[in-house]
Amino acid sequence: MAPQPTTYFHSVELQRKKCQGCVSCVKLCPTEAIRVRNGKAEILGDRCIDCGACAAGCPYHAFNVKTDTLDGLADYAYNIVLPAPSLYAQFPDNIPLESIWQGLHNIGFDEIFDVSLASEYIALEIEEYVKKNSNGRKPLISSTCPAVMRLIQVKFPELIKQVVPVLPPVEAAAIYVKREAAARKQLPKELIGVWFISPCPSKETNIRQSVDVHHTELTGSFSLSEIYGLLLKNLGGTHELNVRTGSSYGMAWGTYGGEIESAGITNGLAIHGIDNVYDLLEQVSMNKMPQLDYVECSACKGGCLGGLLAAENKFVAECNLRRRIAGLREQEPADRREAMARTMVLENFPHSEAYRKKLVARPMMQLDDDIMEAMKKFERMEEVLCSLPGLDCGACGAPSCQGLAEDIVQGKAHEIDCIFKLRASVHKLSQGMLELAKQIPIYHEPAEINKTEADNDEG
Ligand code: SF4
Ligand code: SF4
Repeated sequence: MAPQPTTYFHSVELQRKKCQGCVSCVKLCPTEAIRVRNGKAEILGDRCIDCGACAAGCPYHAFNVKTDTLDGLADYAYNIVLPAPSLYAQFPDNIPLESIWQGLHNIGFDEIFDVSLASEYIALEIEEYVKKNSNGRKPLISSTCPAVMRLIQVKFPELIKQVVPVLPPVEAAAIYVKREAAARKQLPKELIGVWFISPCPSKETNIRQSVDVHHTELTGSFSLSEIYGLLLKNLGGTHELNVRTGSSYGMAWGTYGGEIESAGITNGLAIHGIDNVYDLLEQVSMNKMPQLDYVECSACKGGCLGGLLAAENKFVAECNLRRRIAGLREQEPADRREAMARTMVLENFPHSEAYRKKLVARPMMQLDDDIMEAMKKFERMEEVLCSLPGLDCGACGAPSCQGLAEDIVQGKAHEIDCIFKLRASVHKLSQGMLELAKQIPIYHEPAEINKTEADNDEG
């Protein structure tokens, strides 16, 4: 098994100056990767899965998503861009795809390859895998969303066996198109840039540190909203580009439930939103849904169309894309497989098996490298946890009492970070001081002493 990386690339980054320490993000994080200490949030890199939930919920816009800039195109002799349905969904369906493709060409890309075509090949692989594994533990889990894959790695490693081992369509598209363009253009692969237009941070992270492939052929990715802004000024009218594109079924991958539909799965469930996905995986982990064949999970609310880097409102985008799909479907054979067969004419499209990396667990709570020391710390953590109020209020800057107990044992926090413990300590201290005060001899001013003595003499 390949060793796990010890440091993780993250596209979601915090701008400390903007953070007001409000702790909103602490409660939003599905992997308990955020702490607020000394009034500022901190991200624990070994836990973060780059889902973007914190960035979406921060009222002070204190998070940033790292993506590439178009300057990077200058480093390559030939640049190919991979638009996905999430890009098309930003535009009303009366804007032809050709116009969007021409716009991409106008802003500097030499060639365009539509990810929806790759989605169809992957859909057929999923269909086959689900059929072959119908007697195994169910439901099987989609591997398309990298944030969900990372969530499984850190929180639900027991579900790894249920993940369908196929490539995300964008990775498959990159492998195919780079190899094919290198041969056609007689260029070394190193001189070909293959770029994605990403709706979310997790896809950007996956290019830098993939959970799916041994070696990605993607060069980088641009923020969907930035490219959208440029496209608005560059949409073209000419239709001379030779773009290979998919059917309505490939296009449907942009909407939630589209993956299930294109794979012909009738007994599946599509879930979106990281909190919903978390709930679902918990149920699957307890084997409470064995009657279901397949679950399609997207970390973003509204699927990829609700990604943090999308430009258009997710409901408007969903409406745009569904209309585009309906328009395509009117031109296609009624049978799904027949419709897909009309576009799936590429030679030697990569099969996932040759490229897919095995998903491995990424344990989140490692108290110590030394097992004996870890056990001692665990016992201590349990003791500390018992002494905490168990309200999971988040006021201490940790997401839960358990999180604070762990931080205390690791020497990263103090018991009095808990406001209830602090109040109890202050109360105890003040009681102690009162008791002490009672033992202090009463002090009399000299004049008062003389007066008392004189009074006594008179008496
Ligand atoms: S949500 Fe998190 S990052 Fe944003 S201001 Fe509040 S504590 Fe800081
Ligand atoms: S990106 Fe997601 S996992 Fe990472 S800190 Fe933010 S909410 Fe947590």
